[in-house]
Amino acid sequence: MSTGTPYDVHSIRQRFPILNRKVKGKDLIYFDNAATAQKPVEVIDALTQYYSYYNANIHRGLHTLADEATAAFEATREAVKEFIGAAHSEEIIFTKGTTESINLIAAAWGEACLSAGDEIILSSLEHHANIVPWQMVAQKKGATIRVIPMNDQGEMDMAGFHALLNDKTKMVAVVHASNALGIIQPVEEIIRSAHQHGAVVLIDGAQSSVHLDINVREMDCDFYVFSGHKVYGPTGTGVLYGKKHILNSMSPFLGGGEMIKEVSFEQTTYNELPFKFEAGTPNIADVIALRSALAFITELGKSAIRMHEDVLLKYATAQLQKIEGVQIIGEVENKVPVVSFVAAGAHPQDLAYLLDNNGIAVRTGHHCAQPLMKRLGIVGTTRVSFGAYNTQEEVDVFITALEKSLKMLR
Ligand code: PLP
Repeated sequence: MSTGTPYDVHSIRQRFPILNRKVKGKDLIYFDNAATAQKPVEVIDALTQYYSYYNANIHRGLHTLADEATAAFEATREAVKEFIGAAHSEEIIFTKGTTESINLIAAAWGEACLSAGDEIILSSLEHHANIVPWQMVAQKKGATIRVIPMNDQGEMDMAGFHALLNDKTKMVAVVHASNALGIIQPVEEIIRSAHQHGAVVLIDGAQSSVHLDINVREMDCDFYVFSGHKVYGPTGTGVLYGKKHILNSMSPFLGGGEMIKEVSFEQTTYNELPFKFEAGTPNIADVIALRSALAFITELGKSAIRMHEDVLLKYATAQLQKIEGVQIIGEVENKVPVVSFVAAGAHPQDLAYLLDNNGIAVRTGHHCAQPLMKRLGIVGTTRVSFGAYNTQEEVDVFITALEKSLKMLR
């Protein structure tokens, strides 16, 4: 929820200590937010606070520090529940990131629910994290992977998707917003149609969770996963949301402490949700600090942040279009603030190097989406991605540096 105060990007920037640093003697311009976002001071403080005042293991302790740490850890679970509109806090499982969340689902759901001949539908735009775990379980279970085609702009081909659905489809696992191109995909239609065929749907929210309003109940997805570090939170934190009845039908992923009720050498009974999927000592400090990151987003308001980022997206797109030989890949209306482009006569890696000399951080390469790059017939792109603290002036500096770099390379 927004406080109703105007969006003041300059005071927001003051909450991010890293934005004061210089790179190669220049003010840092951080345009690699899709890879990981920077952290506001309240997230950094939450980490220091935990280690300075109440570092303790959680859930099992009967002392003040353990109580305080447990309460703070569980408060993040509540905050995540609110952040994505889940019905129950036990539907929120902490992992170390999107990758681990998808691996957990592929292994534990796949073990319980996949048989030989079943089909898993993915899309052409998936991050490797939403391809490889499915290949691993498909191989083990004798299931087949089918791929939703896309058009040349990077939008899923919905007719192609509908044609893939059949009574062998057991899982549809798709990205909400593509990390390589930024395009928001029609997940509502995908979920509705997949459910009509009795399939379960996983939405990879690694890129959508920070920019779009997420309500998993309204979306009606069965699983939604995202990474804490992309929502201004610490690395090593991730979320797996799953509908309670589906999580209950799955076997545990990892065995050990915390996930059990009783253990003997003859037999072990498992703990309730969510602990059944949280074996061992979790990433306590970082999970606690994740709450401050979600509070930061909620305080500014996702719609206010999105309006700000959208201005940057449109401005950067328009400026890039003016540069000769620059081609934006994935030029559609409905995007998160990511612009991917190729430039004639300039290898993305050389560009990244020259931009870094100007203090500008961008990402280049295949963006962990090699099948997508192959489909587009390119080896990689240069990607700029914006966050709540970026400014139009930074885009101007970037465009000038890009033009200068292109002149040097051509
Ligand atoms: N899925 C998408 C769409 C992503 O953008 C990323 C990371 O960039 C991932 C999955 C993997 O996230 P992580 O590396 O945080 O596990």
